[in-house]
Amino acid sequence: MNAKVQIRKMEGYDLQQLQDAVASYLKSVRNPKLNRAKRVLIKPNLLGAYPPHKAVTTHPMVVEAIIRHFLDKGKEVWVGDSPGGTVAVESVWETCGYKDLARRYPIKLVNLSTMGFREIQKGENTLRISEAFWRCGIIINVAKYKTHSLMAYTGALKNLYGLVPGLIKSDYHRQHPDTNSFARLLLDLWEITRKRITYNFIDGIMGMDGAGPSAGNPRYFGLFFGSESVPAVDYIASKMMGFRLHDIPYMHDALHTEGILPSRIQIPTSFKDYPVFDADLGVVKLRKDLLKYLPEFVRKGFHQLYYKQPVISEDCKRCGICVRSCPVKAIAWQEDGFPKIDEKECIRCMCCHELCPHHAVYIKRSWVARISRL
Ligand code: SF4
Ligand code: SF4
Repeated sequence: MNAKVQIRKMEGYDLQQLQDAVASYLKSVRNPKLNRAKRVLIKPNLLGAYPPHKAVTTHPMVVEAIIRHFLDKGKEVWVGDSPGGTVAVESVWETCGYKDLARRYPIKLVNLSTMGFREIQKGENTLRISEAFWRCGIIINVAKYKTHSLMAYTGALKNLYGLVPGLIKSDYHRQHPDTNSFARLLLDLWEITRKRITYNFIDGIMGMDGAGPSAGNPRYFGLFFGSESVPAVDYIASKMMGFRLHDIPYMHDALHTEGILPSRIQIPTSFKDYPVFDADLGVVKLRKDLLKYLPEFVRKGFHQLYYKQPVISEDCKRCGICVRSCPVKAIAWQEDGFPKIDEKECIRCMCCHELCPHHAVYIKRSWVARISRL
């Protein structure tokens, strides 16, 4: 398959420039549903209640440009996500700037956690996917460009995890504690949904490196990506951030499923020799995919020497989100009034690190992990 990825350089969030890019990217889409379907679901990354300048969530101006595009075409527009853990969706809409969009445009904000779901079997996994997804003929996936403490990188494919309602996500983390097993789950989710995904954008104007997806460093990349293909856009975007193919546990299999050769992905000529950013990937980069080819006893030994463990710091504000969201209940309140992680129970899913709104959960790395910086 010949896949195409659109990329534009942008100085900042400028509505007119974004609208021009959205219109131009979507012009090349041949999917007849784009004209025929009446209802659009725009699926941003709304991980938690973070203001846009923190670069954790999809910037509302990117979504605004897409909203305007589809309203101009006479479509009904839904904007929806299911934030992680037990975060209240109303505060997410408000803080991330989406309530303001709903005040200014005739759109519907949909909470993907409360609209019911359809249960689909794929391989060994049974996945629950929000009913809102099935009710829309056009699906626009609008990811944020970030590092990710569990999966190394988060873009278009990982953003689909928000189609799984609420705490069911935590339950899947409990069932898939190993990175490769969780990657398989994400691949199954994508394979179930891929034929219905009309287009993918990645907001890489302000992204995040370091300890993403929420506690890293907001970072200017100045890039706005688009593609009909989830793996193609993720491959190009992650490569530009400095990742290699095997750094991201699902990347090879996703490209293979679509029959895409990385060298054949078409990108604008001006980006052919674009410099790879010197992004800080040290905390998140782990080529765990290579481990699956090793015998069990070698893997166990490796895990004892190489590990990343979340730890709650003194910055904790005792909001309780991590305690309520931990899929294996490994975080408990102590007598001093602060939560603590039981390292023996912890499956290192990094949900607490991802969801803590005060960046009070940091990642402790074993000495092997620190010196190897795989
Ligand atoms: S570590 Fe973070 S999420 Fe957990 S209670 Fe403290 S502030 Fe809240
Ligand atoms: S303590 Fe954090 S990393 Fe460990 S299982 Fe709970 S949420 Fe996951």
